[in-house]
Amino acid sequence: MNEPLLRVEGLKKYFPIRSGLFSRVSGQVKAVDDVSFVVNEGETLGIVGESGCGKSTTGRMLMRLLDPTEGKMQFNGKDMMKLSDSEMRAARRDIQMVFQDPYASLNPRHTVERILMEPLNVHNIGKPEDRKKKVYDLLEIVGLSAYHAKRYPHQFSGGQRQRIGIARALMTNPKLIIADEPVSALDVSIQAQVLNLMQDLQEELNLTYIFIAHDLGVVRHISDRVAVMYLGQMVELTDSETLYDKPLHPYTQALLSAVPVPDPEFEREQVVISGDVPSPANPPSGCRFHTRCPFRMDICDKVVPKFAEVQSGHSVACHLYEESRPQ
Ligand code: SF4
Repeated sequence: MNEPLLRVEGLKKYFPIRSGLFSRVSGQVKAVDDVSFVVNEGETLGIVGESGCGKSTTGRMLMRLLDPTEGKMQFNGKDMMKLSDSEMRAARRDIQMVFQDPYASLNPRHTVERILMEPLNVHNIGKPEDRKKKVYDLLEIVGLSAYHAKRYPHQFSGGQRQRIGIARALMTNPKLIIADEPVSALDVSIQAQVLNLMQDLQEELNLTYIFIAHDLGVVRHISDRVAVMYLGQMVELTDSETLYDKPLHPYTQALLSAVPVPDPEFEREQVVISGDVPSPANPPSGCRFHTRCPFRMDICDKVVPKFAEVQSGHSVACHLYEESRPQ
């Protein structure tokens, strides 16, 4: 079997909490706490969870916009933690990001042509005349036109701006695109268009996606496999169909209870959770979900459940499945 494009092991990001006159470190926010997964070439891995679960921090660490506190990241056969500055710059060509708010991520004073040209200038890719052609080609590919090149971001609708954000991410011919809530800021009617565009581009350009979102409905549309995160940890990971048809973790079941089902014959058991997500600065002991879990047992607040496979390709972190794990 081929080596995955990306392998992440034991990834952690702790942010220090400073207080007092001398800004002493008085604690840590465990934004991402021991997360491991792989992403295979050509697939889409969805990462979902409520706000503050660590999904965006994970994405930013993969881009090395944030330095991990601990963990290993191997991309395209290379250990990303050991790359020199120049090797890291080269790796950044291969990993690009699409952000949630295209307006905030596009410089309002630059024309679209200049915005799209920038990654080529930064990475010194191609001759100046070829760069211009690439801008025009990519505008067409993402469903815009060459005449849009001379316009400014404010002259576009939200959906068009996200197409520009996608075009910018594609300028360096990346292998992996990390899309952080790419459609959450868009009208529902536009969301499907942008998702369809991303799927078409994936097929045409053999792209690999990590698709981060809080909405399980959106993630299902595009993902081959889905990882669910809660309070900085992964609680379930499996293929998209299994996750939606037979979710195992009570948190996933609760998230799915809130997603409308189009098939009236299909009845999903409703799992309702109460309360807010606890603070990642002081996460609950044992299973971090135990303060909200309707199936909580005695062991749950004492022992951290292992994140491990219960069936081939289906991993879950929950004591309910301890006995069904393969020995
Ligand atoms: Fe609920 Fe216990 Fe499973 Fe955690 S380990 S999800 S508290 S049943």
